[in-house]
Amino acid sequence: MPLTVGVLKETLRGETRVALTPEIAQKLQKLGVTIVMEKGAGDEVGILDGDYEGVNFTDADTVLAKSDLLFTVQPISDASVRKMRDGTAIAGLMYGHINKDLAAALKSKKITGFAMELIPRISRAQSMDVLSSQAAASGYQATLIAASTLDKFFPMLTTAAGTIRPAKVLIIGAGVAGLQSIATARRLGAVVKGYDVRSATKEQIESLGAKFVETGVSADGEGGYARELTDEEKQQQQAALDKEIAQSDVVISTAAIPGRPAPKIISAAAVANMKPGAVIVDLAAETGGNCELTKAGETVVANGVKIVGPVNLPSALGRNASEMYARNLLNFITPAIEEGELKIDWEDEVFASSALTHDGEIKHQPTREAIEGGAA
Ligand code: NAD
Repeated sequence: MPLTVGVLKETLRGETRVALTPEIAQKLQKLGVTIVMEKGAGDEVGILDGDYEGVNFTDADTVLAKSDLLFTVQPISDASVRKMRDGTAIAGLMYGHINKDLAAALKSKKITGFAMELIPRISRAQSMDVLSSQAAASGYQATLIAASTLDKFFPMLTTAAGTIRPAKVLIIGAGVAGLQSIATARRLGAVVKGYDVRSATKEQIESLGAKFVETGVSADGEGGYARELTDEEKQQQQAALDKEIAQSDVVISTAAIPGRPAPKIISAAAVANMKPGAVIVDLAAETGGNCELTKAGETVVANGVKIVGPVNLPSALGRNASEMYARNLLNFITPAIEEGELKIDWEDEVFASSALTHDGEIKHQPTREAIEGGAA
């Protein structure tokens, strides 16, 4: 029997993405895979059922019952997992240490749960890295939100009515999202500065035409990771950053530490020192915010400063975000499909590391500890 790959319509409020696009569906079919999808799965991003060639469309329960391998974007509900057959597989975002009911359901149904956020960040896996592809969408979108919230132009304008000075934009955190925010703000003509605790980002920030904020403190530790700063160093770093924040028209913060709450970098006092009308877009809103005043999903106004806490930004660019996400999934699963059947090479670190659950066991240690106190 050829492998049946299933795709549901995402149900999270505001989620527009779909885990499979027509282009990727065709590529999977060429590998000998049969595809079954829930009716209207791509509607939110303008991909209609008729755009998928050779795909069977049906209701959600039938998709769940028929799938050998289910593709999802958001973590699937444990109720849906229970409608799948024992011993099947799912690939999608899972965050099992937070979604404990999901991890427990996968375990009890002996489903192999590949959590896309656990794919190792090695160069071979870059083409499968959904965190990167979706962060690029978030970074771009964050700059557009900032530009449309600010009551000023981003570029310098020379007009008959006078010259308009360009907006000053500060991007805090120069990972995938931050670098995309910088590039977008530069394209819109703003004067851009960037900051990150990792000094390797200096060159990347400068190559995009932005200035690196020097705080006089280097957080580089062993192996390219940041080291813990002394209290004195932290104060010196924060003072330099606060000065930059106060002078900026826009601050876009993207700082994150994997698996931990977002670092607090913009204090209420720093917001009070900003110019009225200034805008903060806090990309870390969903993990607690980089700004003390951020509220996820809301815009807070404090001393005339607008603090935007957007959630699920990739959904705003759902069409392209789905295309990238689906391509990531294809690149991930292709090596495991042999003559239309799923054959996982458990020696391959990409599969071994991304398996949240397999054969009735929780494989991911932090999730295991969160649920079972560490026992395998
Ligand atoms: P992330 O979303 O986890 O964090 C965003 C940024 O916040 C990081 O650059 C981090 O250094 C920064 N940060 C953390 N604490 C901070 C603080 N207190 N102040 C300022 N900045 C702070 O990171 P990401 O975008 O997912 O990626 C981070 C790195 O991983 C990048 O170097 C990226 O190139 C690399 N990466 C490698 C691969 C791969 O090889 N497959 C894939 C993706 C990313």
